[in-house]
Amino acid sequence: SSVFAGLAQAPEDPILGVTVAYNKDPSPVKVNLGVGAYRTEEGKPLVLNVVRRAEQMLINNPSRVKEYLPITGLADFNKLSAKLIFGADSPAIQENRVATVQCLSGTGSLRVGGEFLARHYHERTIYIPQPTWGNHPKVFTLAGLTVRSYRYYDPATRGLDFQGLLEDLGSAPSGAIVLLHACAHNPTGVDPTLDQWEQIRQLMRSKALLPFFDSAYQGFASGSLDQDAQSVRMFVADGGELLMAQSYAKNMGLYGERVGALSIVCGSADVAVRVESQLKLVIRPMYSNPPIHGASIVATILKDSAMFNEWTVELKGMADRIISMRQQLFDALKTRETPGDWSHIIKQIGMFTFTGLNSDQVAFMRQEYHIYMTSDGRISMAGLSGRTIPHLADAIHAAVT
Ligand code: PMP
Repeated sequence: SSVFAGLAQAPEDPILGVTVAYNKDPSPVKVNLGVGAYRTEEGKPLVLNVVRRAEQMLINNPSRVKEYLPITGLADFNKLSAKLIFGADSPAIQENRVATVQCLSGTGSLRVGGEFLARHYHERTIYIPQPTWGNHPKVFTLAGLTVRSYRYYDPATRGLDFQGLLEDLGSAPSGAIVLLHACAHNPTGVDPTLDQWEQIRQLMRSKALLPFFDSAYQGFASGSLDQDAQSVRMFVADGGELLMAQSYAKNMGLYGERVGALSIVCGSADVAVRVESQLKLVIRPMYSNPPIHGASIVATILKDSAMFNEWTVELKGMADRIISMRQQLFDALKTRETPGDWSHIIKQIGMFTFTGLNSDQVAFMRQEYHIYMTSDGRISMAGLSGRTIPHLADAIHAAVT
């Protein structure tokens, strides 16, 4: 007997549970397109060369220690992270208006930001896009915020429901928090154009809506770090305030190192100092202080111009491989004369394609073809290779015919 005898079995996580099912499948042709993790053309996880080099340098440094970091993390890492996303010439950085704390990857940054807002911000409602990354509603609800959604994706066009988005943000209460994917929207792969971003910015600023950017894919979408940060930089350039959650999981391949940052761009340097002091009170009882290894890797790479350049080349290599997978899958469906318009596969951007396949078709493809994806029809393009694309195209063809 157990004091927990009455405990119900919890369901698997909708995204990570796909990998659990995949691991149990003995089929030699199985393909995991569930979790968003980059694979090489050979289907292997990738540790970037520049990351290996940085780790070597860290290990060979005799003065390296394993002491606790401050509650806010590695100071160099924080400064360099803010520079990376906001731009080296960002007025907010030059005016010392940015409070940055190292957090446990993107998820931890969102959670710390959410808890801070729940404690100190006057409007506790956060609007998240419909659909969005499945963890968003849970993170923000548990942080103490009330979660609402705004229209984002139009299944009919497989593109942005821009009108719906403007209407929903337009009718949100003044001051409400709005979660925005900085680029490569997950799961849809649909981003606003720069013109649309500008309209979103104007609407949000006119209603004093508070932007909370989630940047999990900087450089991974277009292959350019600056291009993928353009949406964010528009909102910083107007002098207004915002929150930014950054992850190095994808763009540096540091998934399991859990390295990310939360930055709060404030109206003045004086406010930024007080914001940082309160962020420490959120972090200290939660996990005390963040881990040292991943942040040291990132700081080593970001502060050395040769290593930084090497990183951008490797990053572009990953982005380009994903873009080429889109083209190859699109071509394979065309060759098979698969019914339907599949142009969204090449129009969407980032790690995922939102195929438009329904949950029955997803189940069919798992059953008959051993292809694993989330039940909303999202596939990770980064998990594909030239070898697996024909198999996937056959499966999609069979599922829709
Ligand atoms: N936000 C979005 C939109 C994501 O897709 C992810 C990763 N799947 C994250 C945040 C957080 O990932 P991590 O905590 O591994 O950085």
